[in-house]
Amino acid sequence: MSEFVNDTIVAISTPPGRGGIGVVRLSGALARAIAEPLLRLRHPLAAGQARFAEILDIEKKDKTRSEEAREVLDEAVVTYFAGPHSYTSEDVVEIAAHGSPVLLDYLVRACIAGGARLAEPGEFTQRAFLAGRLDLTQAEAVHDLIESTTLHQARVAAQQLGGALSRRVAPVKEQLVHLIATLEAGIDFAEDDIDLLPNEAMAAQMEEIAASLEALEKTFGYGRIVRDGFTLAIVGRPNAGKSSLFNRLIERDRAIVTAMPGTTRDLVTERVSLDGIPLELVDTAGLREATDEAETIGIGKSREAMAEADMVLLVLDGTEALHAEDVAAMAAHETRPLLIACNKCDLAPEVSLPNERHRVIKTSALTGEGIAELRSAIVALMTSGAPGGETALLTNIRQQQAVSASLAAVKQARAAVDNAVPHEMILLDLYEALEALDGLTGATTTDDILHLIFSTFCIGK
Ligand code: GDP
Repeated sequence: MSEFVNDTIVAISTPPGRGGIGVVRLSGALARAIAEPLLRLRHPLAAGQARFAEILDIEKKDKTRSEEAREVLDEAVVTYFAGPHSYTSEDVVEIAAHGSPVLLDYLVRACIAGGARLAEPGEFTQRAFLAGRLDLTQAEAVHDLIESTTLHQARVAAQQLGGALSRRVAPVKEQLVHLIATLEAGIDFAEDDIDLLPNEAMAAQMEEIAASLEALEKTFGYGRIVRDGFTLAIVGRPNAGKSSLFNRLIERDRAIVTAMPGTTRDLVTERVSLDGIPLELVDTAGLREATDEAETIGIGKSREAMAEADMVLLVLDGTEALHAEDVAAMAAHETRPLLIACNKCDLAPEVSLPNERHRVIKTSALTGEGIAELRSAIVALMTSGAPGGETALLTNIRQQQAVSASLAAVKQARAAVDNAVPHEMILLDLYEALEALDGLTGATTTDDILHLIFSTFCIGK
């Protein structure tokens, strides 16, 4: 991509600690020249092929031994990728030795002695980006893929890595560029009194672009949930069965269950995966007037957890009449998705369910009745923003902000058309919209932002 040649970087690319295999990766013009003196190869390195090699101990200075008789530290499989057909687009050598930290450290040291530099976090992926092999959304997807904790997260990241988001943005960008070009041409021909694009047509195109951007922006709600997970606060009066339901949902005996009201004094949280989406369950202390200090603290924390949760599960004791507190809890969560579990249905099968505005599910934490239904109701609420069949998602705030900035600029341009603003001014808005979209994929991104993104990677990625 550029005239200057990058220095050659090296890092251990496998996780810290001991393992069956550990990989040291080199990338840069000198990758091969630096690796070869450390290896005894039966066959020379060849692009795209794995080679068996012995790793030589070049640090042990033994004058009596010839080069050929150098001591061997390990056996390894070495793969050479000739640029541009490599992860970074540069020459890459990967040495897969046994996963011993001292051995891998030795290899890195020896490569540095041979002229390499220790890679910074994310630098391999950054080089792939700078060489144009990945765009910014794809580079972010590498990070998301590595960090994913469920298979569903990994699938979304893999689609992103495959360029799903970039592909979705490309036609919108093309439309925008086309509109800009037409307007620019119109200005050039203004003296000839040629109107290349009537205002109505211009407005219609802007509306179309805005609609695409709006649809894309909406994917952020679901994208964020897939990436960061979802919190569900379980609330309700003491003894309604919150802890028992919590345990049912996590399928373990974690929160203490007792017949005494007010025993779940602190917050108990657990991360589970429902349909591949990470869900943080928060069991809260019974919300009632505290009788001692510990309970007061617990109740304070419950209120905080409820305030922050994405969704609330209100547990009612089905054997009792609806309490004023329960009604108050429903009213308090008007702005958030709220599910109601009418618990202890084994004791009160005929109980009439309160409230029509929220989904109410009859459950029994004791017998397990209704638990499967509760789970699917939670999943349905979590995924209600899931785009049907559409795989391109905005998964982080940087992406969301880029799209929303672009959308705001397009809307401004659209309003300007109605206000008969000169085309030169409308163009400024459209260029702003284009720039924001370019920022999304990284076509134009400042070094500061790049540094911020890649520094969240671990070394060796
Ligand atoms: P919490 O204070 O809301 O967390 O309620 P717990 O989960 O501690 O339960 C209070 C009591 O109700 C315990 O004795 C549980 O065994 C009992 N319990 C909870 N759920 C059910 C249920 O569905 N059916 C029956 N029969 N008892 C339940």
